[in-house]
Formats: sequence, structure tokens, C-alpha cells
Amino acid sequence: MLTTDRAIAAYLGLAIGDALGSTVEFMLPTEIKAKYGTHDKLCGGGWLHLKPGCVTDDTTMSLALGTSILAQGKVDALAAAQAFDAWMRAKPVDIGNTVRRNLLQFRKTGNPEAPYSEHDAGNGAAMRVLPVALATLCKTPDEVRAANRAQAHVTHHSALSDAACECLIFMVQDALRGADKNHLLHTYAHPFAAKFPEFKFRAVRQSQNPSGYVVDTIQAVFQSFFDTDDFRDCLIDVVNRGGDADTTGAIAGMLAGALYGLEEIPEAWLKKLDAKISLACVTQARNLMQLA
Ligand code: MN
Ligand code: MN
Repeated sequence: MLTTDRAIAAYLGLAIGDALGSTVEFMLPTEIKAKYGTHDKLCGGGWLHLKPGCVTDDTTMSLALGTSILAQGKVDALAAAQAFDAWMRAKPVDIGNTVRRNLLQFRKTGNPEAPYSEHDAGNGAAMRVLPVALATLCKTPDEVRAANRAQAHVTHHSALSDAACECLIFMVQDALRGADKNHLLHTYAHPFAAKFPEFKFRAVRQSQNPSGYVVDTIQAVFQSFFDTDDFRDCLIDVVNRGGDADTTGAIAGMLAGALYGLEEIPEAWLKKLDAKISLACVTQARNLMQLA
């Protein structure tokens, strides 16, 4: 399978996971079960009252970042901050508190790096790492980390957020190169959880109702990603845990898309995804791969 096809699948996976999860965001697994049985359709609704196939900030911030990377030819902190600021001015359907607070701060100071804060360990930077992963595919690990921090610190300047972002990027990049799931588990996920024990996802309770705290998010994503065997099962498993389901869905969809590729994404989901968003994801994935 071509690397570019996997990159496209990762981007579509991100958007599909976001769209699927948005319906059940902030619901408890028991509430989801009562209302949908198993939630498995891009049917819109949710607390944002979205149309079927529509996406949220997870996808649109990624696209905004990717557009700025393509315009600059690289990941640039100031350009990323300006892109996020323009994105916020366009009144997105949803926006995280940490993102809003630090973008308002950027408007005042013009400094694209938010002050360091251990409290800013939400999943808002991790949900938008895909364009960085694609653009830096051929860079050294240090260059990859620097590129990620440039975009991440605009809104989330925290060690746990950085660790999660970087682990996700390296996993996506190896999956794009054809690595299998076992390799991703042993080369990245396990060593990552050993280095940052907060993120332990094995021998802990199955994560339900995961919050926007990046640790909760990654635990749910890793449990679903490593305990299922295809794209569809992975996404259904993770969003039916409820909580920050659009974001767990988006991150899991990105990983599963990169690993399993385009053929594995269910036709029904591809068809239902908003056509404009779908085109934007495919085009941007291609262009970022070209840049890389
Ligand atoms: Mn969202
Ligand atoms: Mn969310």
C-alpha cells in the first residue's frame, strides 16, 4: 500500500472518528447504550446538534494547522498561532477552554508560545498532530519534536501534552511506513507508558467516559486501538465509551486509518462524511506528503 494512501486514510479516519464521536460526546456509556444500543452511524446530533457527517474542532483545527504548514513550507509557531486565531474568529462549532484562553492571550501579546502550565494538559494539541506527522515524515526525531512543540505550545504548553503528541506522531509515521500494530505497541506505546506512568493503559480499568485530560484520552484510545483488529471496531469501541468521544474518535481514527489504510474504512462512513471536509482532508494529506 502506498504511503500517501495511508496518509489520506489517516486524515479521513480523523474526520470520521470526530463525526462519529460528536453524536455521543459527553454522554455516559450507559446513556449511549439506552439511546443507540451500539452507536455506529454518522448520524449527527449530539450536544452540538450537528448535521450527519459534520465534524468539530478536532478536524477543523487540524486543517487550519495543515494549511499554515503548507503556506510556510514548514511548521511555524507564529503562522500556526495566526491560523488558529483566524479559525477562532470564524466561529467554530466548538472550542476547548484552554485553546480559547491561550489564543486570546496570543491576541494580546503576539507571543505564539503559551506560558508553561501543568494544568494545560488537555487533549487539544494532541487532537491536531496529524498535519505535523505528515509534514515531518522524513525529518529526524529531534526535528519532529521541535515542529510539534511549535504548534502545540500555541495553546497547550505542558509536558504531558508534549509526550502524548510526540508518541502519537511517531506511531502515525511508522504506521505510514507500513509498521504493524505489534511494532507500534512495543516500540512506542509501552515505552511511553513506562516513561510516563500516568499513561499506563494496561492492567488498569477499562477507560469509560474519558475526559479531555490528555491522559484519560490516550488511555481510552490505546485500549481501543490495541484491543481491536480493524478500523470499524476500533472506532466503535472508543466512541461508545462516551466522554470526550469526538476527540478519542478523531485520534483513534487517525491511528487506525494510518495502520489499516483506505480499503478498511467502511464505505457507509466515507459516503456520509461531509463532502467538503472529505475533499479538504484528501487534498491536504496529498499536499503535506508532497511537502515531506
Ligand atoms: Mn471537538
Ligand atoms: Mn472533544
